[in-house]
Amino acid sequence: MTDERFFNAEEAYSRSELEALQQERLRATVKHCMNSPFYRERFRSAGLSQGDIRSLDDLHKIPFTTKQDLRDTYPFGIASVPLGDCTRLHSSSGTTGNPTVILHTARDLDQWANAVARCLWMVGCRPDDVFQNTSGYGMFTGGLGFQYGAEKLGMLTIPAAAGNTLRQLKFFKDFRTTVVHAIPSYAARLYEVMCQQGIDPRRDLSLRTLVIGAEPHSEDTRRRIEDMLGVKAYNSFGMSEMMGPGVAFECPGQNGMHIWEDYFIVEIVDPVTLEPVPDGEVGELVLTTINREAMPLLRYRTRDLTRILPGECPCGRVHRRLDRMKGRSDDMIILKGVNIFPIQIEQVLMQFSELATDYLITLQTLDDNDGMTVEVEISEKVLTDDYSALQKLEKEITRCLRDEILITPKVRLVPFGSIPKSEGKAVRVKDLRKQY
Ligand code: AMP
Ligand code: ZN
Repeated sequence: MTDERFFNAEEAYSRSELEALQQERLRATVKHCMNSPFYRERFRSAGLSQGDIRSLDDLHKIPFTTKQDLRDTYPFGIASVPLGDCTRLHSSSGTTGNPTVILHTARDLDQWANAVARCLWMVGCRPDDVFQNTSGYGMFTGGLGFQYGAEKLGMLTIPAAAGNTLRQLKFFKDFRTTVVHAIPSYAARLYEVMCQQGIDPRRDLSLRTLVIGAEPHSEDTRRRIEDMLGVKAYNSFGMSEMMGPGVAFECPGQNGMHIWEDYFIVEIVDPVTLEPVPDGEVGELVLTTINREAMPLLRYRTRDLTRILPGECPCGRVHRRLDRMKGRSDDMIILKGVNIFPIQIEQVLMQFSELATDYLITLQTLDDNDGMTVEVEISEKVLTDDYSALQKLEKEITRCLRDEILITPKVRLVPFGSIPKSEGKAVRVKDLRKQY
């Protein structure tokens, strides 16, 4: 590549070049999937043969694949290659039933590392950067996924792994870390400990770029994290079933995440009718992998709710952009018959400059009545001894939440740093309601 903006030639493809590649890869993937007993049976029972899938317009004929299918065929039943050809296994534990297993061949791992490297390059990471990864290493793909991607780009890569925040800060300082990968809730925790330790990131550290993803967060949360740490923060979307991180990533415009359409075919469908929705409308993200060997997935229902941002991106990539995730259809809270996504609550809270970024929603039953309590930390800059001011603030937050979610929650302001932090993805909702 001569154009320094792009890591791979495919990033600069025109729409027609991209679609030609997609079509070729879709046909090859469908053919390859016929090695999988699961997909052979799926096609047979749908009365389909591989020859029926010739162009992108034929995609809709293929039945959806669901997480339940992965569970039902646990551990190796969807694989399209013999186990002996696989070199890595990742697994994500669900809340119920079997965990899901994702297999990779050596080629899959190489292509995955390439996708992550492409994302990091896009936001300005270069071989002379120092990349520190604060993800858990192990089955969670945010560890090894970023490790190999950052190495492929050629950065000095520090597998710091999750937790031990004081040690993370020491590494930032001693190794002059310039790029960090952290889940958004952990980025806030890093700042909290910096405050306790008297570290001013702008004065004492070399951080420039933050990669945040793996859990939903609002635009305001991003801006606050950028402000706290003195960095540019880019949203990163991925999921184990598709490979891990590297599926979609923001470009320097920070306006939607380019999904790599040479790796995936994107559909957004109505989660109830499963019919496609027009660009710009929110629905469930459905992805088909077209660049995987061990375990390609056809029309996989991700459960994530988002939309395609219409229009072209000034960065020159035609790979379409996904809007920030609205949440997962399984995360939706139904309280007193009202549907609520935790991100709606976060959006309201982050409009108050007096609040920090951590909050916890608890649903409970009192006297046979279901209710919601929202605990939220006050910013470290707010004085906590002015009770009447805090009461007034609680009231105002309650009013704004009621306007948004149509239910009146109980709001409790709690001191900065007092909400328990988890090492992995943040737990934002505790459901203690009585089950009838
Ligand atoms: P896992 O396979 O365990 O890595 O989890 C993947 C899931 O994490 C996705 O299906 C999303 O629900 C969520 N997720 C990943 N990245 C993001 C992101 N940038 N914003 C919101 N949710 C995300
Ligand atoms: Zn762009």
